[in-house]
Amino acid sequence: MPGPDPYRELREGVRKLCARFPDTYWRELDEQQAYPEAFVRAMTEAGYLAALIPPEYGGAGLGVAEASVILEEVHRCGGNAAACHAQMYVMGAILRHGTPEQKQRYLPPIARGELRLQAFAVTEPEAGSDTPSIRTTAVRRGDRYVISGQKVWTSRVEHSDLMLLLARTTPPDQVRRRGEGLSLFVVDLRGNLGKTVHVRPIRTMINHHTAEVFLEDLEVPVEDRIGEEGQGFRCILDGMNVERILIAAECVGDGDYFLDRAVAYAKERRVFGRPIGQNQGVQFPLAQAYARVRAADLMRFRAAELYDAGLPCGPEANMAKLLAAEASWEAANAALQTYGGYGFAREYPVERKFRETRLYQVAPVSTNLVLAYLAHNVLGLPRSY
Ligand SMILES: Cc1cc2nc3c(=O)[nH]c(=O)nc-3n(C[C@H](O)[C@H](O)[C@H](O)COP(=O)(O)OP(=O)(O)OC[C@H]3O[C@@H](n4cnc5c(N)ncnc54)[C@H](O)[C@@H]3O)c2cc1C
Repeated sequence: MPGPDPYRELREGVRKLCARFPDTYWRELDEQQAYPEAFVRAMTEAGYLAALIPPEYGGAGLGVAEASVILEEVHRCGGNAAACHAQMYVMGAILRHGTPEQKQRYLPPIARGELRLQAFAVTEPEAGSDTPSIRTTAVRRGDRYVISGQKVWTSRVEHSDLMLLLARTTPPDQVRRRGEGLSLFVVDLRGNLGKTVHVRPIRTMINHHTAEVFLEDLEVPVEDRIGEEGQGFRCILDGMNVERILIAAECVGDGDYFLDRAVAYAKERRVFGRPIGQNQGVQFPLAQAYARVRAADLMRFRAAELYDAGLPCGPEANMAKLLAAEASWEAANAALQTYGGYGFAREYPVERKFRETRLYQVAPVSTNLVLAYLAHNVLGLPRSY
């Protein structure tokens, strides 16, 4: 980036906060599979999670570029924003598609951190990449919808007051286009958990707090439907670009985390009487990963710039996520190799992040689906599905 970094102050603020949560904090949580309560509280109190909420609703009113810098720094400092990043962007569906009354009801308490809206229930056991084939059904009965079905991989549901839920309101054979007939709801989990909403945590290779969610005759008032009935898929699609840009930034942060540590280690670790970093066999993978991280970083800022200017950014947001997820993985591999055997040791900084950064090639959207999007929508190749 030519000239001084316009985000310097923002970065320094986040770094200062993150310094209170060093590698040891994250490692212990990882070992106990525990939720980073203290970190999330600090992020909330600092106002970072309200970055994208406009000032009239009590948020900071920042752009996606700034929001992405916040998450990037968390990752560069060794943290993992997955515990709370959705609090930043899930509310976007209400902001963009909610009624004035819904915005007034939800956004100020979310901005103040009094309400956590950080669970987003889309994926189902039979519908991952293929969202329009979801089966969870919402049936209108008077002034409420009655919702039954099952979700899977609903992250942070146990640490959220509200959950955004996509459900089918019209059977697939009665809609004009695939993707129609789905509706979006804000579900108040308080009072419903253990009654009409049952949660079964999924243990994963990372400390992610994700779960299966079973819905049995869950009642949601009509006024908690976001957007038009049947148009829920459209309501979440525009939010996906924001999600992709933010995830790309997290990957850039991970990439730099790996490079910071691997470079320091390569300078200090001596083998055959000289630092291992003096060998080109050690230098080049790090240099290559560095170049890829920087290239992905540029695409992240390009996508954010377009989004913040109100311009279409689907291709750029998808490419940013694709390139950044690959770059962070390449940096992870280069770092692990640089650390040699110690790369595998829990007390060294690489192995936890190595596991964590692998996720981004699968979720929230897998690399193949991004490539298919580019092939179909940008290159104009025949649709494969
Ligand atoms: C830790 C974690 C947290 C998550 N959090 C959430 C969450 O909070 N909310 C939520 O709704 N979901 C969440 N997900 C789900 C995530 O979005 C899905 O895992 C992802 O969309 C892929 O869906 P799937 O796992 O069903 O894979 P599938 O759709 O079954 O795909 C399996 C593989 O086949 C490939 N594939 C499928 N179709 C094609 C095709 N046509 N062409 C080429 N390749 C194809 C895919 O790329 C993938 O590699 C989470 C997942 C994980 C692992």
